Amino acid sequence: MDIEQFRKAGYQAIDRICDYYYSLQQRPVVPPVQPGYLISQLPDVPPEAGEDFTVIADDYQKLILPGVTHWQHPSFFAYFPTASTFEALLGDLYSGSTPNPGFNWSSSPACTELEMVMMDWSAKMLGLGPQFLNSSGTGGGVIQTTSSDSALVVTVAARSQYARAHRSTKLEDMVIYVTSQTHSLGVKASLVLGLECRILDVRAEDEYALRGETLRAALQEDTAKGKHPFILIATIGTTSSGAIDRLGEIGEVAKDYPDLWIHVDAAWAGVTLACPEYREVAQLDNINKYAWSVGTNYHKWGLVNFDCALLWVRSRKDLTDALDVTPEFLRTKQSEAGAVIDYRNWHLGLGRRFRSLKIWFVLRSYGVGGFQKYIRRCIELNNRFASLVSASPDFSLVTPPSFALTVFRFAPAHLATLSEAALNDLNHAMYTRISARTEIFLTQTKLNGTFCVRFVVGSGLTRTEHIEQAWALIQEEAGVAVKEWED
Ligand code: PLP
Repeated sequence: MDIEQFRKAGYQAIDRICDYYYSLQQRPVVPPVQPGYLISQLPDVPPEAGEDFTVIADDYQKLILPGVTHWQHPSFFAYFPTASTFEALLGDLYSGSTPNPGFNWSSSPACTELEMVMMDWSAKMLGLGPQFLNSSGTGGGVIQTTSSDSALVVTVAARSQYARAHRSTKLEDMVIYVTSQTHSLGVKASLVLGLECRILDVRAEDEYALRGETLRAALQEDTAKGKHPFILIATIGTTSSGAIDRLGEIGEVAKDYPDLWIHVDAAWAGVTLACPEYREVAQLDNINKYAWSVGTNYHKWGLVNFDCALLWVRSRKDLTDALDVTPEFLRTKQSEAGAVIDYRNWHLGLGRRFRSLKIWFVLRSYGVGGFQKYIRRCIELNNRFASLVSASPDFSLVTPPSFALTVFRFAPAHLATLSEAALNDLNHAMYTRISARTEIFLTQTKLNGTFCVRFVVGSGLTRTEHIEQAWALIQEEAGVAVKEWED
């Protein structure tokens, strides 16, 4: 493809993307395809001779789009959202147009410097303390691929800072702490690093949040056995129910364990910190007081397309001490002079994408006000859904709504004596029916054995009418499920 052919294909691609967004509402959220639908339509080997790009672009429309799940659909209420804005899309296009691996300042100065500034802008928008700013010279922020990568990176950093402070510690005695509600990123980090992970129980009466006393008991028990607790991964907004671990209590316990790194995973809910009214519930003060590191994903609920996971640390030296490997060919005079950040030492890979560009486009185009408006609208829409659920005699909220997430279950008033196990089965039957519908998408979860359904608002296209349609559909399927149950 030459430049003029690219111009033509590019205009066509933009036209088709616009048409896609115009048609999004009319599409099924979940594609009605069966496993293997695409594999059976593709050749087993690449073409011998190059093909005309118009044919390739048409095949994208014909073969790929029908198999795509539309996460930006206004009736997508599953998982947590995946952000998409036209500004971020354009950021990806521009960054793809000047590819470079951005590992050192000198490999492309704009990449490093824009990332430093965007991480500081973002920290300030979210109210993070000055200790997390790149401009502090000691702490700082870096864009990772995912929050799972962030967790792995900080676990590596925590392990190495702990091992430096306690030289005789054996790896097999080092313990990572998570709860039963922590995202799998904690257990995954332990698997990757071959370290023990202790999964702490949380209680329904604490709304599935980690309490200080639970942590203290585990730390005391483990240290008495000669173990070395070196990192706790706390969560603001857990995946299943949006639980918020009690950072104040955790921080107080951690005062007796000064080398225990506290990482705060706020992958989904961290963006609510942009709105002053949510800072107390999302525990901003305690994050600033106790967290060694904190991360959130713009690519979930923060208007920036995948991938864009933000990670801040109090001490950049903890990252570079653990991850800096500098062969001769990577030495530069700017790094040697300490004048620049070399982000390759702040994450696992060497090369990295120019992701700060899409943040720059989004934050400038929306402004902090636009960002807050979007977050507030999602929360208001979710509150609308939660109020429909709680007003119904046949449904109940399993946990109080958390930001833009509602966890609920079907509990028909006329079957009030149903056992817990039977109620689980009934909810499962209802959810199976809902998940067979292609015009809406919700996900299930289990909270300490209770089967429930999650409803999350995140699409910028969702309006009240979509909430009401979803509620009508849920009631309809629940009605059929209970009828089948009784028959
Ligand atoms: N943390 C929480 C609380 C999540 O809900 C999720 C995903 O939903 C993750 C982390 C994982 O994020 P990532 O895909 O960026 O690793």
